Amino acid sequence: MQFKLTEDQQMIRDLARDYAQNYIAPRVEEIETAEKFPQDLFQVMAEMGFIAMNFPEAYGGMELGYLTTSMAIEEVSKVCPSVGAIMAVTMLPLEAINLYGTEEQKQKFLVPGLQGEFKGSFAFTEADTGSDPKMLKTVAEKTGEGTYKITGVKRFISNAAYEGPIVLFAKEKENGQCTAFIINKFCKGYSLSTPWEKVGLHGSHVYDVFLDEVEVTEADILGEHGQGFDILIGTTAYGKLAFSSVFTGAMGGAYDLAVKYAKEKLHRDKPIAKFPTIQVAIAQIAGNVMSTRMLLYKCAEDADEIKDIRGVQASTALVKGHVAKMAPETIMMALNVLGSYGVTEEYKVERLMRDSMIAPNVEGAGDVQRIIAGNYILRN
Ligand SMILES: Cc1cc2nc3c(=O)[nH]c(=O)nc-3n(C[C@H](O)[C@H](O)[C@H](O)COP(=O)(O)OP(=O)(O)OC[C@H]3O[C@@H](n4cnc5c(N)ncnc54)[C@H](O)[C@@H]3O)c2cc1C
Repeated sequence: MQFKLTEDQQMIRDLARDYAQNYIAPRVEEIETAEKFPQDLFQVMAEMGFIAMNFPEAYGGMELGYLTTSMAIEEVSKVCPSVGAIMAVTMLPLEAINLYGTEEQKQKFLVPGLQGEFKGSFAFTEADTGSDPKMLKTVAEKTGEGTYKITGVKRFISNAAYEGPIVLFAKEKENGQCTAFIINKFCKGYSLSTPWEKVGLHGSHVYDVFLDEVEVTEADILGEHGQGFDILIGTTAYGKLAFSSVFTGAMGGAYDLAVKYAKEKLHRDKPIAKFPTIQVAIAQIAGNVMSTRMLLYKCAEDADEIKDIRGVQASTALVKGHVAKMAPETIMMALNVLGSYGVTEEYKVERLMRDSMIAPNVEGAGDVQRIIAGNYILRN
């Protein structure tokens, strides 16, 4: 384990800090209330290389690895976790295509995706499949030689209202196998609910996606027939790391705000930083942020180095389970440093608190992550 950053890593981290401070911070209010993420900010994100960071140079990527990617998402999420979430979910379908796609699919989707030409989606979840993939109900029914129509409802799908590809999973009616498909959103038969109203991450919207006899062919299959669950595990192993970075960033953002407030807020002409209670709280928050960050970086290094996908999944599930607990707990401590001001919208910790409440529920439920990690540890 060595976290001495390379020049490239330092450059990307500083760029991400610059993007967060100079582009995102002045427009957080707009991002959190707009129906869609401002396109000019997405273009800057892509131009700075934040989508291409971890993909092969052959397709326009930078091959900087998961540790660098995690640090970039973390930096952006310190200021606005919704933007970190958009980075994470935009990379997810590209990850699936990079890992499992044909050369033709990579040229068609990966190359323009890395240039920031669209925001793709990754759609597994349904009403019954949150933590139980085998309950998949969306069906791909064969209609002819190499043709199928897909019918079903996908739930809580991020980026679903943007143009671009969607990686989606369906059960083949003929044999019950789970197969992944990659198609363009807004094709015939694709429609959306209104966005779900949720407690936080207001700038990153989720929808139900209705698939009504969407026509696909063999060329739209990602990977092999029946490889769907492997693709789900293989791709979300990295998605868990990305979302762990989002909420580690939120913790760091809340820590910075609590320290600033403790130094500025006066009580009888002295900063509240002089109170032992505040010192204890700040020490606890600092410890939580640093230990979580170290675990994140260690698991990101694992993702860079481990070749066995089950090992990567166990490592990223471990950090995801950890962050799911630590983010809301730690940000609540930071909020309490601000007393009543902490719960007002003016002081921003309130927004990070609401965002962090989603940590246990996205990219796999918190307890289920601990089960995945614990099970792997005990078997190996
Ligand atoms: C903001 C947001 C964005 C999302 N984006 C996407 C997306 O783009 N694509 C996508 O496919 N999905 C997406 N999701 C869905 C998300 O990944 C699932 O909601 C998540 O995996 C949890 O599933 P669930 O809500 O059905 O919870 P459930 O699986 O129903 O879990 C409910 C509770 O039961 C517990 N539990 C469940 N099973 C077990 C078990 N076997 N043993 C012990 N305890 C168990 C869990 O720990 C949890 O506390 C998103 C969700 C959110 C909130």
